Parts: sequence; structure tokens; C-alpha cells
Amino acid sequence: MFDNLSDRLGGVFDKLKGRGALKEQDVRDAMREVRIALLEADVALPVARRFIDAVTEKAVGQEVLKAVSPGQQVVKIVHDELVRTLGGDPDDPQSSMAGEGLILEAKPPVVIMMVGLQGSGKTTTTAKLGKLIREKHGKKAMMASLDVNRPAAQEQLAVLGEQVDIATLPIVAGQQPVDIARRAMESARLQNFDVLLLDTAGRLHVDAALMAEMKAVSQVSTPTEVLLVVDSLTGQDAVNVAKSFTDEVPLTGVVLTRMDGDARGGAALSMRAVTGKPIKFAGTGEKLDAIEPFRPGSVADRILGMGDVVSLVEKAAATIKEEEAEQLAKNFEKGKFDLNDLRMQLKQMQNMGGLGMLAGMMPGMKKAKAAMAASNMDDKVLVHMDAIIGSMTAKERAHPGVMNAKRKKRVAAGSGTDVQTVNKLLKMHQEMGRAMKQIKKMGGLKGLAAMFG
Ligand code: GDP
Ligand code: MG
Repeated sequence: MFDNLSDRLGGVFDKLKGRGALKEQDVRDAMREVRIALLEADVALPVARRFIDAVTEKAVGQEVLKAVSPGQQVVKIVHDELVRTLGGDPDDPQSSMAGEGLILEAKPPVVIMMVGLQGSGKTTTTAKLGKLIREKHGKKAMMASLDVNRPAAQEQLAVLGEQVDIATLPIVAGQQPVDIARRAMESARLQNFDVLLLDTAGRLHVDAALMAEMKAVSQVSTPTEVLLVVDSLTGQDAVNVAKSFTDEVPLTGVVLTRMDGDARGGAALSMRAVTGKPIKFAGTGEKLDAIEPFRPGSVADRILGMGDVVSLVEKAAATIKEEEAEQLAKNFEKGKFDLNDLRMQLKQMQNMGGLGMLAGMMPGMKKAKAAMAASNMDDKVLVHMDAIIGSMTAKERAHPGVMNAKRKKRVAAGSGTDVQTVNKLLKMHQEMGRAMKQIKKMGGLKGLAAMFG
């Protein structure tokens, strides 16, 4: 159902292959595809629109990297902006965001109030947090259910409390939410609990009565944290839910549940955009330890559905020196390929994460990867080869034909390898030179690129 965004962008950008800056019209064309990807990922429409305007501005005028297609580059720009919008750091996308976790430094009992629609996962998350507060923070929590709407809702929390060994406030029939909250605070204070978790009632849809109740409870309990619990499968409605709660209670963060399901993460972007609050946790299952810090990087990946493209572009941008690449290409076209050229090429391979990594990321490279594995050419070999060429004189590098037995012995000793390895390198260079002539006959680098494209 979901096409790969970078594949789709490939078409848009075919005409831009080569060099230059990303042009406004091309970026706009690409953003049409990005917009579809966002909507498919359940990002709310107004949020998607705003996001795209921001990214378009950033992308226009950026230099096109030679090592990747403009389509891939735009995906990377979009990805970085997603990570940033979700509260993360694009340079460290797998880290969880700043301000992660719970604020527990306040006068005990610190109150954490859970709000959200019915079925969003409030009660389950309350128990998960009670357990996490004991295990990760070493603090003692008590839980209280203020849900007097749904039959047996309070009992549900008591059962979960027993499972995770977290105390729950004894149930008193007929009491209203605000009174339960007051009693819970008094009880937590008397029994020296560090933290009080208030699980509240939800409704199927946002309504005035629910909002009035949330407001009243937050006023009497002065919570340090008010966490909006949202099902990540919530689609376009996410914005309305977030708006209603933001207007009525002082939200401090969001918990996205059911991230273990096939949600594409769009709700995260909507939540973040509308509430402006950090997404603190992701619920990843029904079990009571299935809760994790929210990771902006992996959610951005999920929204774009594109796996390795981002890391390929990152590596290319960080490591390929434009001039070196250009020099190589020029030499290549001229049919010049000495050991200096080989060395430059080896270095680029190494910078990009080694042979296996590179082969694994490029479409259509599976065969090449298998061949490398079969020939035992691993990354250590790259290091050795670099050392060997480094031990040669300038003359030897430019004219490998002069390498005789005596020279080979000297180079082997200088590079910490042996003559056999030096021979292997020279042979490989010869073969690559031959392959290069072949490629030249087939129309040069452009022909080769067409084969991979
Ligand atoms: P509440 O009405 O907001 O209190 O929602 P509940 O906590 O009662 O959860 C409703 C259902 O969602 C229960 O069956 C939970 O087990 C399930 N649930 C809650 N969080 C998650 C989650 O992160 N992943 C999955 N797969 N199920 C969840
Ligand atoms: Mg509940």
C-alpha cells in the first residue's frame, strides 16, 4: 500500500541528475510526493501542510551532492526536519529527545495525571509508569483511578497494580473524581509515597463534560506532569483530540501507545505540532514493561518508510570530498588509473562504512556483495591496502610496473604485511584497470550509472 518515498522521488528528480542546486520547482514537485507520504502515515492535513512549507524553504538552493540522487537528498532533508520537529537531534537521530522522561523533582507526593480518550491506553500506561518509576527512578508510587464512568474501571487498575506490585488507592463506591483525587493525595502524603499517578476517565469523543472534569481534577491535584495518552493509530482526528486537551489542562507531555502495531507514526508529528509538548514515551505492547522512551529518529524513518536511504546520504555528505570524487571521475574518463587513484577509491569505500555496508545499501548490489564475501575481501583488507600504497614511493604509485621483488619486500615490511598481500593488491589494481577500460567502452561512468539507475 505504501510506496517507498525515495523510489517515487526518483522519478521526480531524474531530470536533475548531475549537479547544481536544488531548484524551487523541483523541490515543490518532490514535496507533492512527500505530502502524500505524510498523509499516508496519518499526519493530520494542516500539520502536513505547515511542515512542508518549512522544509521547502530549507531545501531550495541546497547544493546537490554528487554521490546521491537529488531525490535521496530531499528525503534526507525531510527526514532531518521530521526528527527536529519530533524533538530530536538530526545528528543523533536514534537518541531519545532532550527533556525525556518524567519530572519527579518536586515536593512529594509528585502528582502525575493521565488524560486521554477512552481506550487510548491510560490505565495500562499508568501501571507501566508505576513500575518504571520504581525500577528506573527508585521511587515509590501509588496509583488511583478516577474513572467512575466505566464499570469496573477502578478494579482494572487494582488488578494491574497487583501484577506490578504497585499500591492502588482503596475503592470507595459512589465517590466523584475530584473527591477521589483529594483522598488519593491525602493518602499518598500520609503513607509517604513519592509519586501519585492519577488515572482518569475517558470518553469515546472529546466532550465538554470530560473537559470540565479534567480541569477540575487538575486544579485540585496541581500535577507536576499531565500526560496526554494517545493511540498512535489515531488518524486525522489526532489534532482535535490534542487541541481540546491542550486548551483545558496544562499538558506537560504525550505518551503514544500501540507503537508496536502498524501505525506509521504520523500521530506523533500531529501531537507534537499541536501541543508543542515533548512526546515522552512510546507504548509498545500490552505487557506492563512494554514502554520505551520516544525515539524521534525511528519514528521519522517509519513516517517516510525508507530505511537506509538516509544513512547512505548522511555518509556520502559527511565523507566524500567533492574534489577527490571529481578528480577520480576525470582520471577515470581519461583512462588513467594508477595506485593513487586506487587509494582514493579505497579510502572512500572505507569512509562510507566499508564494503559490506556500501554494497548492502545500494540497490542491485546484492551480487557484488556476495562476490566480495566469497573473495574474503573484508574491511581489514581495505586498511592493509591503504598501508601498502602508503609505503610506496611516489614513482611506484604512479607507475606500478616498476615494482620488482626487492621493492615488494620493502613495501611489505613498511606496511606490516607480506609480499603475497602486496602482490594481491597489484593484481587487483591491474584487474580494476582492465575493468575500467571495459566500462569506458560501454560509455564511461554514465553508462555504468545507467546500469544501476
Ligand atoms: P484506557 O481506556 O485509556 O484506560 O485504555 P486501557 O489502558 O484500558 O487500554 C485499552 C486496551 O489497549 C487494553 O487492551 C490494553 O492492553 C491495550 N493497550 C494499551 N497500551 C497498549 C500498547 O502500547 N500496545 C498494545 N498493543 N496495546 C495496548
Ligand atoms: Mg482506563
